[in-house]
Amino acid sequence: MTELLCEVTDLKQWTYCPRVVYYRYCLPEIRPITALMQAGIAGHQDESEREVRRSLRTYGLTSGERAFDVPLRSSTLGLRGRVDLAVALPGRDSPAAQAIVVDYKDSERVRGSHFTLQLAAYALMLEEAWELPVRRGFLYSIPLRRAEPVSITPPLRTKVSQTTRAMQAAIRGEQMPPPPSSRRQCISCEFRRFCNDVV
Ligand code: SF4
Repeated sequence: MTELLCEVTDLKQWTYCPRVVYYRYCLPEIRPITALMQAGIAGHQDESEREVRRSLRTYGLTSGERAFDVPLRSSTLGLRGRVDLAVALPGRDSPAAQAIVVDYKDSERVRGSHFTLQLAAYALMLEEAWELPVRRGFLYSIPLRRAEPVSITPPLRTKVSQTTRAMQAAIRGEQMPPPPSSRRQCISCEFRRFCNDVV
């Protein structure tokens, strides 16, 4: 079977609405790029430049070895992506080293389960890539300039694997998932013209 690697951002989209992921992989030519999406990409790039100047105290740390925009890929999980910031504590070569992950969000509300799931996926992939434990991470709100800590708990780790398997099954089977129970997000969804059963 051909290897299928989903993007870590697909986990967030799947939590929002599984159909968005289905459209992305099974009908890739229909995806519109909205002005909002382009603004989000530009905002992320600006933030990476600011992070270089920001102190590690933002994350309650006094020292650590930072790596920016780290590419990650895991055949075990079936995921790939780039984490905005990874920090090895105190350094990657230290015998008792561990690491944290940081994901920047262009949102004031960073506590959502979709963001937490995405951060946990980065944590698992960084553990595999750096061979260091990752027990926590931060969701950094760009507009609030505030970092929210997140524990990478066993249930969260399990949820990453389960959600990835569900996404891959839908993509491989080309089965359009049901819509989300709430239709609130359909109102502003870029795919709404394709979901005739909900709008
Ligand atoms: S319109 Fe609604 S059901 Fe269709 S993809 Fe968008 S959020 Fe999902």
